Amino acid sequence: MYDVIIIGAGAAGLTAAIYTCRKKLKTLIVSIDVGGQTNVTSHIENYPGTGAMHGVELMRRFQDEAVGFGAELIMGKANKVEKIENKFKVFLANGEAYECKGLILAYGKVPKSLGIEGEEKFMGRGVSTCVTCDLPLYKNRDVAVIGGGNSAVEGALESATIAKKVYLVHRRDAFRADEVTVEKLKNNPRIELIFNSVPTKVIGEKNVDGIEVENIITKERKALKVDGIFIEIGYVVDTSFVQHLVKVNEKKEIIVDERGNTSHPGIFACGDITPVPFKQTVIAAGEGAKSALECYRWLTGGKGAVLDWTH
Ligand SMILES: Cc1cc2nc3c(=O)[nH]c(=O)nc-3n(C[C@H](O)[C@H](O)[C@H](O)COP(=O)(O)OP(=O)(O)OC[C@H]3O[C@@H](n4cnc5c(N)ncnc54)[C@H](O)[C@@H]3O)c2cc1C
Repeated sequence: MYDVIIIGAGAAGLTAAIYTCRKKLKTLIVSIDVGGQTNVTSHIENYPGTGAMHGVELMRRFQDEAVGFGAELIMGKANKVEKIENKFKVFLANGEAYECKGLILAYGKVPKSLGIEGEEKFMGRGVSTCVTCDLPLYKNRDVAVIGGGNSAVEGALESATIAKKVYLVHRRDAFRADEVTVEKLKNNPRIELIFNSVPTKVIGEKNVDGIEVENIITKERKALKVDGIFIEIGYVVDTSFVQHLVKVNEKKEIIVDERGNTSHPGIFACGDITPVPFKQTVIAAGEGAKSALECYRWLTGGKGAVLDWTH
């Protein structure tokens, strides 16, 4: 039995763990990965006090501190939460389950999928949602990047530093990225832009051999021969497995008050999974700290927490 289970090991969850552990609460973090979305930022420049660094390195430091203060970390996907008498039971996709008195939901956002044939089959084995994490596998090979926002454009530029050929497939004929970056893209000889097109199928038997794309104007389909596919079409919140316990807004974000309380006593939420504006690493970290202190206050019946240094 844990005092606190934190679902998600991104900036919000790891910071929450630092705070709960420093309050001597027995803390378990369960997460699919460590670092979350911050990992995909190769050059994070707006996290104060660290200087510019790779997001993976910044998150490694968060992890070291959380674990250093005593947090236990288990890798896995939470897919069910139940309230049983005075405790919560968190179930993982592998069948394991853990119990706690207080629960902090910090599981951010998950990458959007295309929903096309072959995508799920090859996810993690040729299809990826993280250029920065998986690009080293494609040295001198051909890849396709799908999307038209900043992360797709930057993903294509990063891919062109390692891959032999990069197709950037976008459903429109202009990018939603800043002009300087788009200019770099157009001048890169390794990048071929495929406009007005959507992916329709991942091609391959044992490995990815290519991707089929359809021109949405002419309806013509063609196969691009690639070894790897990066889906960079943004992120969504998935709160389906907690909606029987906590209230969500129209975007399915978990509604919290200014201290991170959800609509259910004993369940707190923080970071990108909540409606808190300006989704940023530093904000997620701050919200994580706040929800952990509020969780501590709740667990101690309002007696223990320092709410303000002036009181
Ligand atoms: C391309 C891109 C660039 C960005 N650039 C910047 C930037 O330069 N500066 C900046 O400050 N911010 C940037 N951001 C935003 C920043 O990364 C996020 O605001 C921040 O990561 C949110 O942290 P979080 O902990 O709330 O969620 P996340 O980072 O999303 O972490 C959530 C964690 O929960 C885990 N998880 C998800 N579902 C489950 C589940 N069911 N069970 C268990 N674990 C689960 C995930 O694996 C992950 O570890 C960027 C985001 C993106 C996508």
